[in-house]
Amino acid sequence: MSKSLLSIVVPCYNEEEVIGETTRRLNAFCAGLTDLDYELVFIDDGSRDHTRTLLKEIAAADPHVRLIAFARNFGHQIAVSAGLDAAQGDAVVLIDADLQDPPEVIHEMVARWREGYDVVYGTRTDRPGESAFKLSTARTFYRLLNKLSDVPIPLDTGDFRLMSRKVVDVLRAMPERDRFVRGMVSWAGFKQTSLPYARAERFAGESKYPLKKMIRFATDGILSFSSKPLQLSIGIGMTAAALALLGILYAIGLRLFTNIWVEGWTALMIAVLFLGGVQLVCVGILGEYMGRVYSEVKRRPLYVVDEYIGYAGTSGPAISRSPVVDRK
Ligand code: UDP
Ligand code: MG
Repeated sequence: MSKSLLSIVVPCYNEEEVIGETTRRLNAFCAGLTDLDYELVFIDDGSRDHTRTLLKEIAAADPHVRLIAFARNFGHQIAVSAGLDAAQGDAVVLIDADLQDPPEVIHEMVARWREGYDVVYGTRTDRPGESAFKLSTARTFYRLLNKLSDVPIPLDTGDFRLMSRKVVDVLRAMPERDRFVRGMVSWAGFKQTSLPYARAERFAGESKYPLKKMIRFATDGILSFSSKPLQLSIGIGMTAAALALLGILYAIGLRLFTNIWVEGWTALMIAVLFLGGVQLVCVGILGEYMGRVYSEVKRRPLYVVDEYIGYAGTSGPAISRSPVVDRK
């Protein structure tokens, strides 16, 4: 019987400072895999530094290494999706390039997979070296997401996880553009279990998630897994209407019993500004969903690959769904 194949998917964006050490650690880990074949699938997410050149050198020297180089930066979650499309393993592990997720933990994940679990996700018990701001926003985000989302999404859990082929195939069949991978995995179901691990500090370089990307990521998570913000806007509208009704009753009451008219300007301004604000927020929420519907309807490819390396021929893996540029 041939050995099972383990694919390790590593999204990289401007990671030239860590890529050498990451491959060294991953190779050391893989060397210890006695009863599994493995492949390392790197995705260069349109890096502007030397990440791609370094990865190409690594791929040229090692037949286990594959590289999918994007035509531009598409973002972490899309890079991960491309990795899942290309990975051929019976089990696929997602891991960050910065060594915050220790590769050694994968041994334990594989053991759980062998016990019959389809998803083994790493839950962070400890996150040294991250700013208080990042920790508290992350904490709040995961809790809020869980409150809003229609499927329970595990707390303090990133993308570091092992998935069986069954789960990967479900994810690949999900056509949506807004890809919040950890939510999609929860949605898929199957036998899932958590594996607590201590997150390390970033080996080198800076976080590739600046505030803007973090906000985008959080809204993607919430909007693609919940329609509660829409219900919330109905709630806010109702409350505003109820407040206005109280104001009307108050004004009429005052006039009937005391012969005093409510003073005009201030009350009027407050009401107008309040209602204007509420309406704009609600339209904004609606707009966010609309924008997502629009991008779904356009049906553009999820990502564009500039080159595939480490595959036979020039055309990349047979199961990819990205149009490949023919570079002859
Ligand atoms: N990443 C990516 N594309 C991006 C941003 C990040 O592929 O546009 C990769 C990055 O190289 C890393 C992983 O996603 O391997 C997680 O990013 P990072 O470590 O910067 O995030 P943090 O750990 O700070 O949340
Ligand atoms: Mg990181």
